Amino acid sequence: MGKLGKIVRAIAIPDLPQDVRADYVIAAAQQVNKQARWLFVALLLTCPLAIFVTPESTGWVVRWVLPLGMSIYCISGLITLLRGKSFEGRPWRAEKFIVESWFSSLIGALISTTWAIASWLSADGAERLHFPVILVMGALATAYCVASIRAAAAMHLLIDIVPIAALLLIFGSTLDRAAAVSLALAGMFQWRMINMHHQQVVELLLLQRKNHTLALTDPLTGLLNRRALLDFAEALGDDDGPSRLLLIDIDRFKAVNDTHGHDVGDSVLQEIARIIDAHAGNNVSAARLGGEEFALLGTREALPCSTAEVLLDEIRAAAMPHGERVTVSIGIAEGTLEDDPAWRNLYRRADDALYEAKRRGRDQSCQADELEISYRSALARGESPAGPLSPRPA
Ligand code: GH3
Ligand code: MG
Ligand code: MG
Repeated sequence: MGKLGKIVRAIAIPDLPQDVRADYVIAAAQQVNKQARWLFVALLLTCPLAIFVTPESTGWVVRWVLPLGMSIYCISGLITLLRGKSFEGRPWRAEKFIVESWFSSLIGALISTTWAIASWLSADGAERLHFPVILVMGALATAYCVASIRAAAAMHLLIDIVPIAALLLIFGSTLDRAAAVSLALAGMFQWRMINMHHQQVVELLLLQRKNHTLALTDPLTGLLNRRALLDFAEALGDDDGPSRLLLIDIDRFKAVNDTHGHDVGDSVLQEIARIIDAHAGNNVSAARLGGEEFALLGTREALPCSTAEVLLDEIRAAAMPHGERVTVSIGIAEGTLEDDPAWRNLYRRADDALYEAKRRGRDQSCQADELEISYRSALARGESPAGPLSPRPA
């Protein structure tokens, strides 16, 4: 396609970016689903009028069969829409509805344009022009109602306006020709409006997507933030299976900042984030919870305990921006995530285990289960257990 062709295409049919395609089709289907029922009611009300005004000379098919066909089309359309489908989170269903709307528009446009052209051809001189006007006004209103589905709107504008305008231009009087030009212009401006509306919706959806990403991402490392991890915990909770949480805290990180500066500290955080993120995947998410604390959360199967040891090794061996070795401590806990208190409990237990790993000398992991067992057996022996399950030092 040449440059001019591309410009004309961009004006006539602006693109739909892939990023927002699913959101767009859902919004479009919802919009048309709401509007089209009123359109069917209005069209249904015009059917008796059509029978009344059709010239007798058109014959019984145009006078009776087409308006009755239109009534059946409207009633079946209304029944389908009133069944009330939900498109939220179901882009495939929205796509199907859009294809159906496109096909339905084709049928509606063909019935109405056949009726108007036949009536125009059979009507007396002075009254003829009413039929193209009725048809085109109807097409403009319909295209406006289904504007979110541009293929359906285009169908109405093309089928309802182009043939009748061409007939008026070729076979009509001077007045008919003037009307044809103005009807065609009205159609073109309607198409322009529909495309502008489309562009605005696409821009809003892109902005919404960007805000959503910003709200859930840590700007320094690109990992999920605490809020996004909570969302993921909620989603995991639906599965009802046990989950595993690894809380990962960089050892003596303050010293890195103090010795090498905050910028180097930031680079270290980014490098550690990259190593941790390599363990995220299906059913496992990596997040930066704040400062120099990170988390891996996932199902027990997808996030085995051995991940902690692998991480400790990888971080010990990694080349860091300041040329020194960095280590982390890791607290591990397992539990279900059915509600918010369950998440808090899991987090508190992993945090206790992390604290114990620090207390034992850092650069190691500790499991909440093992910690709790040794705490209970120390109590049973009448000893006073040290560690995070006893009150923490300030
Ligand atoms: P510990 O082994 O006990 O965890 O010691 P620590 O020094 O890692 O822990 P502490 O909580 O005393 O210090 C955390 C430091 O993390 C303090 C703060 O300056 C640094 N920090 C927090 N957020 C950022 C950040 O975004 N960038 C940089 N460069 N440093 C940060
Ligand atoms: Mg630390
Ligand atoms: Mg910390």
